[in-house]
Amino acid sequence: MKATSRPLTQTIPFNDLQLQHQIITNELESAFATVLRSGWFILGKELKKFENEFANYCGTKHCIGVGNGLDALVLILKALDIGPGDEVIVPAHTFIATWLAVTHVGARPVPVLTGKFHTIDPTMIESAITTKTKAIIAVHLYGHTADMNAITASLKNRNIHIIEDAAQAHGAAYKEKRAGNLGIAAGFSFYPGKNLGALGDAGGITTNDDGLAKHIRELRNYGSSTKYQHNMLGVNSRLDEIQAALLCVKLKYLDKWNQRKNEIASLYLDSLKNCKTVRLPIKAEWSTHAWHQFVIECDQRDALQAYLSEKGIQTLIHYPKANHLQNAYYAQYDESAYISYQKLTERILSLPICPTLTNEAIEYVCTAIKNFNS
Ligand SMILES: *Cc1c(COP(=O)(O)O)cnc(C)c1O
Repeated sequence: MKATSRPLTQTIPFNDLQLQHQIITNELESAFATVLRSGWFILGKELKKFENEFANYCGTKHCIGVGNGLDALVLILKALDIGPGDEVIVPAHTFIATWLAVTHVGARPVPVLTGKFHTIDPTMIESAITTKTKAIIAVHLYGHTADMNAITASLKNRNIHIIEDAAQAHGAAYKEKRAGNLGIAAGFSFYPGKNLGALGDAGGITTNDDGLAKHIRELRNYGSSTKYQHNMLGVNSRLDEIQAALLCVKLKYLDKWNQRKNEIASLYLDSLKNCKTVRLPIKAEWSTHAWHQFVIECDQRDALQAYLSEKGIQTLIHYPKANHLQNAYYAQYDESAYISYQKLTERILSLPICPTLTNEAIEYVCTAIKNFNS
């Protein structure tokens, strides 16, 4: 084969679950084998064990394993008796699941713009409150916790629940407390790509409220706590034994992997600090960041993404289209109120930040960004 004069390009994947799982293959296989041999697949020992361990990890009294992150939010809203005629404040900029959970219980999502940390802007909350407002969902987007004290203050002692969407914030903290322990209840997703991910769909709810926990436990299992006794109109949304066993294994590595993500974030922040073409993410003092995503902003986002792709660097956009402009919500909101959100979706770009990336790989990405347009 003819030697090529093309400069060497490295391939940097956005995420590398295969490599991440290789390190713990034996443990994962043995967890799977234990469940296989037990012959018990739903609502058993492994789920109890994971629920205890994850509640412990978050510092909450309860964890209830459910089918996925969307269901987690839906079940919290149902258990709080939120439904038709009610309004729930949500950040405009979030994964659509936050909005969908509200819509699926029959309530109306009321979007509020996000601020410099990409979490809900507390100064914008009060003007969104009406007599119908029953709850607010604080999303810890990209792994940065929302400003919980400012959110609480903005509600001025009104009877409005604060729910967390912690789907991107496993291990993140607000001051001394971990995400999951910052509101009436929190919804987690254990989708494979999250900081703590199962090998399939899975989700969980954390809360310190005994009554709410009991209610949600019944709701997730056909409204039943005793077989064939149905106290309410429940659903089927249970975290299965295999996923629970695998999650127990991966939970042991969560802090280590988050720590590596923090190191990578520091490398990016340091190396790109003088780079004029991009705006780097900023972290509030109160936040212990889980760095689910490392999101930069760039005026020429599409050109930068294409340039990085040529260099073998895979990037993604979280998320490329504003929720209120999706067909699912089209024409239900006043677009002029959300122009800055729409503009943001045209500027954001998520850089690779998976824990298996080497320092050299991160340097390679930074060099490419610095060479873009210079
Ligand atoms: C992933 C995610 C969800 C939904 O989780 P699933 O397990 O995919 O249903 C909800 N909210 C946010 C912010 C998410 O990132």
